[in-house]
This record gives sequence, C-alpha cells and structure tokens, in this order.
Amino acid sequence: MGRGTAVEISLAALKHNYELVKVLTNNRRVIATVKADAYGHGAIEVASALEKLGVYCLGVAYAPEALELRQAGIQKIPILVYFDNIDAADIIKYELTPIVYGAGTADTISAEALKQNRQIDIHVDIDTGMGRVGFLYDRDIEGIKALSRLKGVRVTGFMSHFSEADLKDRSFAELQLERYLHLRSELSGLFKDATWHIANSAAVMSFPASHLDAVRPGLVLYGSDSLEPSHPRLETADFRPVMTVKSRILHIRRVPSGRSISYGRTFVTKRASLVGVVSTGYADGYPRALSNKAHVLINGQFAPIIGRICMDVAMVDLTDCCDIKENTEVILIGRQGGKEITASEIAAWAGTISYEILISLGRVNSRTYCCDEHY
Ligand SMILES: *Cc1c(COP(=O)(O)O)cnc(C)c1O
Repeated sequence: MGRGTAVEISLAALKHNYELVKVLTNNRRVIATVKADAYGHGAIEVASALEKLGVYCLGVAYAPEALELRQAGIQKIPILVYFDNIDAADIIKYELTPIVYGAGTADTISAEALKQNRQIDIHVDIDTGMGRVGFLYDRDIEGIKALSRLKGVRVTGFMSHFSEADLKDRSFAELQLERYLHLRSELSGLFKDATWHIANSAAVMSFPASHLDAVRPGLVLYGSDSLEPSHPRLETADFRPVMTVKSRILHIRRVPSGRSISYGRTFVTKRASLVGVVSTGYADGYPRALSNKAHVLINGQFAPIIGRICMDVAMVDLTDCCDIKENTEVILIGRQGGKEITASEIAAWAGTISYEILISLGRVNSRTYCCDEHY
C-alpha cells in the first residue's frame, strides 16, 4: 500500500509518441533521452519498451543511470552519457558512449583505451550557444580537429544543444543550427562517418531543418510539450501524455462560512462549504507552489485546491463539484469525463516547466505500467 498517490504509465502512449517522432522526422534515427529515470517514468521500463520498438540509442546524464540500464538487461543499444566523466575501464565494460566536451577528457580516455588495446567511440559536444559544456564552435576548432589524431578514440558523432528552441522566435535556434552546419562542413572530411545531432523535443516538433542525422528528444516521448502555445508546430504533432497521476479523497467535511483552511490561513470559506482532504502533499511531489492555484479532477469535474498544500495532504473545495464519498479517486494529472489536466498546466500554475513536475511526481510515487490506451 502506498501513501495514496499513484502514477500510471501508459506504454501504449509511449509507443504512439515514439512512432510519431519517427513520422515527424522522416524516419530519422532516435536517441531517446531517458535521463532522470526517464523524466520520472522509470528508465528501465521506458528503455525496454523503446528497445522493442527499435530505438537507435539511449541518452542519460550520468554513468550510474547507464549502468542501471545495462544491468537490467538492455545490452544491445548504444547509450550516450551526456555529462559524466567516466573511466575508460567502465566505458569499455558497460559499452557506453561518452559525450566528450573537453580535450583533457579525450586525451585521458584515449590513453587508457590504448593501454587496454582498445579504441573507444565518443561523441563530441559542440557549444553553439547553449553555454553549458562543449567545445566552442568558433574558438576550439583546432582542438576538435586534434581529436582525429588520438589513436585510442574514434569520433562517431557530434552533438550540440539548443538553448531556446521552444520559443516562437526561432532566430537564436536558427543561428545555432547555422553555426553547427558550418562547423560540420569544415569537419566532415576529417570525421567522415560521424552522426550529427542537435534536435531536442522542441526542435523535433517545430524545426525540421535541424533533424540532421539523428534526433535526441526526451519530453515529447513522454507526451508533454515545452513549446509556447502560439509556437507553430508540425501539423500532426499530437503527442499523448504517458503519465497519469492519481490520488484519493481521505476525508470530507462540511465547514461553515468564515473558516480558514490550512497553514497561514491563505483561504477562508466565503460560504458554507464541502471541503475534501486529498492524500497528496509536497512530500509526494505535488508542489507547494500550487497552493490556491491548481485544480484536480473528481467525478469528471474540476475542483480547486484551497489553502496551502501541506507535506502529506491538500484540501479541495467540493461545494460546486460533487457529492462524493471518501476514497473517491482524484486525478492530479490526466483525463476524466472528457476533461484533462496536463503536466504543462500544473507547471504553469507552479511557475515551472513540465519536466520538473513529471520528474517530481514520477520519482517518488509507486508506478504501474499498462499497455491499454488511455486516450
Ligand atoms: C535533456 C536533454 C535532451 C532532451 O531534451 P528535451 O527537451 O526533453 O527533448 C537532449 N539532449 C541533451 C544534451 C539533454 O541534456
């Protein structure tokens, strides 16, 4: 028995989204980003499902995430490790593909590989404007060329990352792509068979020119959307939410007018009210910032969260909504009775992005996997 909040993952929706990425990108190879436990959806389950669907490669942030996948039996597909500094011994042992973003790392990996009589495949990160890691697209060209002389590594790919492909104003994304393509033309003679990739989810949905040799989406595989609402997108980009988050009503009370609800007395009843207590709080990953802002779905109706969200529970106003019994199901994210609450809506109410919402709810709650179609 869990705490009351439960996450359902639809592998059918995941399949739909993966196949949609293939359609939108004209069958490009897909590097599926499954970092942070597949954005809270469960990396092993998601990666196994994607492996069955024929995904080209997986992407994680840190080596332990990759090891977890290898140990779970995901052996055949390459795993790109976006950020970690990994020992050559582990790279070889677990067949990982590190993203290299500094000459020093490449030298070390090459030297260690040679000692073991091996050559290690690496992808090289180019900073075209993300400002995080990577060889600078304009300053570090000689350093990139020098990688071709390292005997212990073979550059099989290049990556870059957009900093704002989700904005309607695409001028900076276009500039990043232009820088990347310019570099590609300069380096393609030296690194003949390298796979060039830059497209994240936003670019998959809206920027076909950036799809190049492979695409590297995360969020859209999980059916969420980071684009500005007015952002033009490819017509058929109807991704389906993979995660549903449910809770239940613990308790219901009739409360007179003028009573304050929860910590800080931020909500006071303006009428005789029916107040429900939901078994979800910020300990379950439901952000406290949603206090007095979010609504939930009960019996196919929206009910507003009232007062501060507590660690373990939150209050809802049921007065206009529903005469229900205790233990009735509450939908925090998902569909019911033709109505829907998305992770993006929750994120907007909480002043954050859907990534953070999915990860915080998905990682702390028990997850079940189902193949039936919710949508
Ligand atoms: C997280 C990440 C992605 C995926 O981004 P989405 O916006 O979820 O598609 C791709 N590449 C890198 C390097 C990342 O860090």
